[in-house]
Amino acid sequence: MVQATNLGFPRIGLQRELKWAVEGYWAGRVSEEALADTARQLRTRHWRWQQAAGLDQIPSNDFSLYDHVLDTIALVGAVPERFGWQGEVVDLATYFAMARGVQEKELEARGLEGTGVLPLEMTKWFDTNYHYLVPEFYPEQTFRLASTKPIDEYLEAKSLGIETRPVLLGPVSFLLLGRATVPGFNPLTLLDRLLPVYAEVLRRLKAAGARYVQIDEPCLVSDLTPEARQAYQQAYAALNHSDHPALVLTTYFGGLEDNLSLALSLPVAAVHLDLVRAPEQLEPALAHLPADRMLSLGLVDGRNVWRTDLDAAAALLKRALEALGPDRVWIGPSCSLLHVPIDLDAEPDLDPEIRPWLAFARQKLEELVTLKRLANEGEAAVRDQLEAARRARAERLASPRRTNPAVRQRLAHLSPDMARRKRPFAERYERQRARLQLPLLPTTTIGSFPQTEELRKKRAALRRGDLAREAYEQFLERTIADTIARQEALGLDVLVHGEPERTDMVEYFAEQLQGFLVTRNGWVQSYGTRCVRPPILYGDVSRPGPMTVRWITYAQQCTERPVKGILTGPVTLLQWSFVRDDQPRADTCRQIALALRDEVADLEAAGIAVIQIDEPALREGLPLRRRDWPAYLEWAVECFRLTASVVRDDTQIHTHMCYADFEDILEAIVALDADVISIEAARSGMALLEAFQRFQYPNAIGPGVYDIHSPRVPSVEEMETLLERALAVIPPERLWVNPDCGLKTRRWTEVEPALRHMVEAARRWRARV
Ligand code: GLN
Ligand code: ZN
Repeated sequence: MVQATNLGFPRIGLQRELKWAVEGYWAGRVSEEALADTARQLRTRHWRWQQAAGLDQIPSNDFSLYDHVLDTIALVGAVPERFGWQGEVVDLATYFAMARGVQEKELEARGLEGTGVLPLEMTKWFDTNYHYLVPEFYPEQTFRLASTKPIDEYLEAKSLGIETRPVLLGPVSFLLLGRATVPGFNPLTLLDRLLPVYAEVLRRLKAAGARYVQIDEPCLVSDLTPEARQAYQQAYAALNHSDHPALVLTTYFGGLEDNLSLALSLPVAAVHLDLVRAPEQLEPALAHLPADRMLSLGLVDGRNVWRTDLDAAAALLKRALEALGPDRVWIGPSCSLLHVPIDLDAEPDLDPEIRPWLAFARQKLEELVTLKRLANEGEAAVRDQLEAARRARAERLASPRRTNPAVRQRLAHLSPDMARRKRPFAERYERQRARLQLPLLPTTTIGSFPQTEELRKKRAALRRGDLAREAYEQFLERTIADTIARQEALGLDVLVHGEPERTDMVEYFAEQLQGFLVTRNGWVQSYGTRCVRPPILYGDVSRPGPMTVRWITYAQQCTERPVKGILTGPVTLLQWSFVRDDQPRADTCRQIALALRDEVADLEAAGIAVIQIDEPALREGLPLRRRDWPAYLEWAVECFRLTASVVRDDTQIHTHMCYADFEDILEAIVALDADVISIEAARSGMALLEAFQRFQYPNAIGPGVYDIHSPRVPSVEEMETLLERALAVIPPERLWVNPDCGLKTRRWTEVEPALRHMVEAARRWRARV
């Protein structure tokens, strides 16, 4: 019989219970036992939901207190030396120290000496908005079993009467996702040492009673080197053992393509394919699947929130059944459900017309079971479910909410000159300098200023209905006036309004644009305890009215100095939302760009001379396969330019990005043709400037001189040194001085001295160059 399986369930809890428990634990308010209790309750609840939905294979060890890659680091004892770990098992303090680092104060409190310990780096999990902690590998690295979490959680479920399928991150992906701490070192060479630990985990799981283990190897959908292919063969030959449970090799986030025959050749019990992203891989997989393998079909989208087109899924399922018969076919989501919100039923006030178009994690479980019953019991058994899905789909396709003729019309008439500034940068920049009257090395910030406790309270009061909108808006104006006054006192040159009206740089715009929907409880884990509520982009995008003009012009009225208007760019709005699946992403992005273009025009018309369009997500939109990069970068750059190019030559366009690895997309960054780009650089000590120099980056740059991720206040001298490095590469006429990123997570007590030092460092250099 066909079985319904799941690859992973969201951990954070409907009310973000895990977040509150973990943060409470960090703050000393929640005991280790209480944290463990909350975690256990969440696991139990999630297992029971899956059981009640009728799933045949339910995952365990998909839960994590922080991150599943960090769990794997703990599992194999790959704790970097600087954390001073020596125990048998990785304790909670070490676990969280790897995630968050250790501050000097904490060391002191524990009676230890030292200057603090840096956490592991964090980076994006493939092309999702989930961040994992990056394992660190070096040639002398050894591994040993240092956590029994997979076995414990398997037994925990068993004691509840629930048989689960433990999930492990596969050894090859684990090594490939890590970073060498010694230049030129290839972590794959550690495979020999790593495999015995995996074998031991598998042995123990088998002894505990596990029949199957899900082993995730998402790297199989990316470009692999010959060494990596070889590593896959070696690893799975070694893990195929009668003392181990049967392995389910899971791949997701794309098609196997040139790695298909490799994946199908590995000696495992079953292979999972992502048939949402890559339905075309089903036929070749059916043609080449060895006779003793089962195939797991990823039919329900684990990356998006749309209700499944059950007829389309059923067609794929039917093909698999014809080729393999019911005993060799499983059904699952395309990937773990970690990346979608938990429950549609937890949305009290969702637009009633759009609600039936959607499925969150719990609804997706039902879809999986419907497909299973369709296969096993025939259409009659699930007629109602199929009908409901068809109706929802037909209504969605026919809905006037989805299409806006005026937007389509406009999109059909895009002309190349709409995405081009009138004059080249050098001429524009001269006109802008004449208009803005700025000194050399102008100082500015990235947009947000501290979001205070008071602001959060006012917001909550507004939401509860305890504060009138008018009073709230007056409070925002006072906040803006205060923020402007502080910047003037600090001596900054280009000011910002501080973004107090924005809870989130994406949600704020999504709330005002037509075509977007925001949710109340649709939390998705971004990293650790941090969650976001990605808006749902369901229809053509238009702008009913100005979104930011009111606040930015208010700020401009408070000062003689130029105020920079801050907008979130089209690629970032796209990238950080759940997007429609009924048209190419590029077209959706162009629609957003047109809406933002109107905002830019309105800001300019209101007298704003500097406009910043943030694109922190430009890089993470890169497709997993290199081959697909140029096409993506082309439309992404076009969308930015479409947004920006509406302005006059003497209006200055800034952009901002906060990551330091630019190397491989510098060409696209040049092509954005922003007058000024501010980028994260302080954390890496300006290392990225080399690339800018090599590329002869033509426009103005503000490499961050102040690392805003830490509460530390950098000294004037420190920032002078960073500026010295920048000046070695960038002529003073084109160098700007700013922090790495926005300041909203910092306190005024940190921000004010840091910015004072920054302004002073700029002044000192101004006098010298
Ligand atoms: N303007 C935003 C801010 O200052 C930019 C945030 C970001 O780059 N992620 O907060
Ligand atoms: Zn940033």
